[in-house]
Amino acid sequence: MNEYDSNRISDLFKSNGYLRSFDSQNVNCYILNTCHIREKATEKVYSDIGRLKKNYRNKTKPLVLVTGCVAQAENDEMIRREPYIDAVIGPQSYQNIPNILFSLNKKIKKFNLTDFDVIEKFDKLNSLKNSDTNVSVFVTIQEGCDKFCNFCVVPYTRGSEYSRSPEEILKEVDHLVLNGAKEITLLGQNVNAYLYKKKFRLSDLILKIGKNKKLKRIRYTTSHPKDMTDDLINCYKQEKKLMPFLHLPVQSGSDKILKNMNRKHTREEYLDSIDKLKKINPEIKFSSDFIVGYPGESEKDFNDTISLIKKVNFINSFSFIYSPRPGTPASKMKMVDTKVQKKRLIILQNLLEKIQMQKNNDKIEKVEEVLVENRLKNQIQYFGRTKDLTPVILNDVSDVDIGNLIKVRINKSDKKITVW
Ligand code: SF4
Repeated sequence: MNEYDSNRISDLFKSNGYLRSFDSQNVNCYILNTCHIREKATEKVYSDIGRLKKNYRNKTKPLVLVTGCVAQAENDEMIRREPYIDAVIGPQSYQNIPNILFSLNKKIKKFNLTDFDVIEKFDKLNSLKNSDTNVSVFVTIQEGCDKFCNFCVVPYTRGSEYSRSPEEILKEVDHLVLNGAKEITLLGQNVNAYLYKKKFRLSDLILKIGKNKKLKRIRYTTSHPKDMTDDLINCYKQEKKLMPFLHLPVQSGSDKILKNMNRKHTREEYLDSIDKLKKINPEIKFSSDFIVGYPGESEKDFNDTISLIKKVNFINSFSFIYSPRPGTPASKMKMVDTKVQKKRLIILQNLLEKIQMQKNNDKIEKVEEVLVENRLKNQIQYFGRTKDLTPVILNDVSDVDIGNLIKVRINKSDKKITVW
């Protein structure tokens, strides 16, 4: 979502006469769009600004804007701790950037904009055309979260659940397709909680978007297991453009830990959804997120997670040691010993890697459908993805193939990349 937000921020700047620069040594305005999901992200902001200060010691100071969830969470504290920052702008306030720039350039004052004005944000952004011209693009359809998992800051930084109007989403999708998009990934912190005016659901939206003749693929992320409803599961049969791959974070395979996390679903309910999806479309593959060493996690709880991984056979996943986020209920709970956490993470990641390698190896000599996305920096090879999102390096294709679905025979693979 930060990638999508960064592009929209860039569109806002462009409409105010700014140009995007990839040379951070010579800019008038420096924007750090931040994520607060891990502890290190906050400290990274301060170290990035420290580097910036050094670079600009003998030059005119650029305007420094910190946007995103770190800005939302840290608020005034950021300007107090680092006076080099001119404005902190939360994720629901970046539509105000043009006004802030005007005032900052006139040296009126420093800014802290961290209100939750998500309706105003999308009202303003809807009138601004999304200038993304990639083959595979993101579209935010939903923001915020009402689930309040005990470890997570999102409900405090992105606010409560909000769904954009289907008309505006469809307009944005049509525009992006005209710009060359062939694959749309619908985004939301809780994307499958999408519900417009209490009746229009994510499944309705997917079926509508699927009618766009030039669009080839649809994906969505990130989903909550509790919102994996039957109408959405049925979409995997009804809409061929919906790719047979689902990122469905489970975090833990232990009912005790899921309860401690306030995840609002059980291991069995999670596995039930997986079974239903496999029945609807046997091709479907899964990925997940795992938190290792959550407060109270015993050896048995950890083994429950391992057994769940073996059962589902996730083809790739994100896994982290539990990191307490200030202000969340879990941050007050007793931590698991660091050595134990690290040991468990290694076991879990080794298993995930083994499954992933096996899945990639299984593709060797098989023919896969790949969407060609772009030419690689080496200018010789091309990049694409299979239906299940596996990255593929392509030889013997050309610029005319960009944006097309092509059939390729996979001839070798490693942990991450399958080579054709
Ligand atoms: S559902 Fe996801 S975004 Fe919401 S609180 Fe839980 S982990 Fe955070």
